[in-house]
Amino acid sequence: MADILKISALEKSFGEKKVLTGLDMSVPEHSIFGFIGRNGSGKTTTMKAVLGLIKADAGEIFVCDEQVKFGQTRTNRNIGYLPDVPEFYPFMTPREYLTLCGESLGMKNDEIAKRSAELLEMVGLAGEDRRIKGFSRGMKQRLGIAQALLGRPRLLICDEPTSALDPVGRSEVLDILVSLKSETTVIFSTHILSDVERICNEVALLEKGRIVLGGSIDRLKELGSAEGFEIKLTQGCDADRLTERYTDARRKDELTLRIVGGEDRKREVLSFLIENRIAIQRVETLEPSLEALFMEVVKK
Ligand code: ADP
Repeated sequence: MADILKISALEKSFGEKKVLTGLDMSVPEHSIFGFIGRNGSGKTTTMKAVLGLIKADAGEIFVCDEQVKFGQTRTNRNIGYLPDVPEFYPFMTPREYLTLCGESLGMKNDEIAKRSAELLEMVGLAGEDRRIKGFSRGMKQRLGIAQALLGRPRLLICDEPTSALDPVGRSEVLDILVSLKSETTVIFSTHILSDVERICNEVALLEKGRIVLGGSIDRLKELGSAEGFEIKLTQGCDADRLTERYTDARRKDELTLRIVGGEDRKREVLSFLIENRIAIQRVETLEPSLEALFMEVVKK
């Protein structure tokens, strides 16, 4: 599958602060791509660079095989963008607002009417004739998606589209994004892993200015399926004795340790604990999950 977006060795600092330190990322066409990173990790900065809105210090970005140049909007004809808090004219109805946006894109009136009706239906706002000022956050986010799709972009970029929403609003927005798969490619940034697990087929994890883990969700889940278990010791026990003996054990907190391995390894560790009279509160087998895998990678 062709890559609709390719970023290589992207660097960006604000003053002394290095935000992107050599970011490489490829987004296959027709994927639902989760761009994951904690708050302040540089997701918005990356997206703004893709839109040509900020000047990178180094690196290259290609959208549909065409290089993005700072301050030029040529490559943006392929992109629909939904900012994290979309702004609208509050006194307009959704249809009026989409008409205005369509006109600014140079679309013809009958095309605007047809496309707006189709999109408002898709985002669940058909027949909604109230002014936007009365809209919930979720409704605004859905209208923002409709607006971003007006010009039939090949790539839809959404900045934290679900972060400010309640569970129902989140779920509605995720359903809409996933329904777009045949029509366009969706990149959405988020710090909410469960949203990614629910709808994405590709992901990239941004940490310390670069992508530390990425690829198809299926491959990552395989990677994350290494067996493991978690042991919680009783208060007053010395967990150092366990980490000295099992040097690959990871400390989750003062009394809790995570160890990679199957049943044989678990039995061996438990024998060691019993022999050394180290009391256990509980032992738990760890389920493979994206979250566990990401936590492992981020801690390294
Ligand atoms: P994210 O979208 O992942 O939350 P951002 O890309 O918004 O992260 O920000 C990454 C870092 O860059 C933050 O520490 C932020 O404060 C800083 N930053 C972003 N834009 C600017 C700017 N225009 N000037 C100075 N610092 C900025």
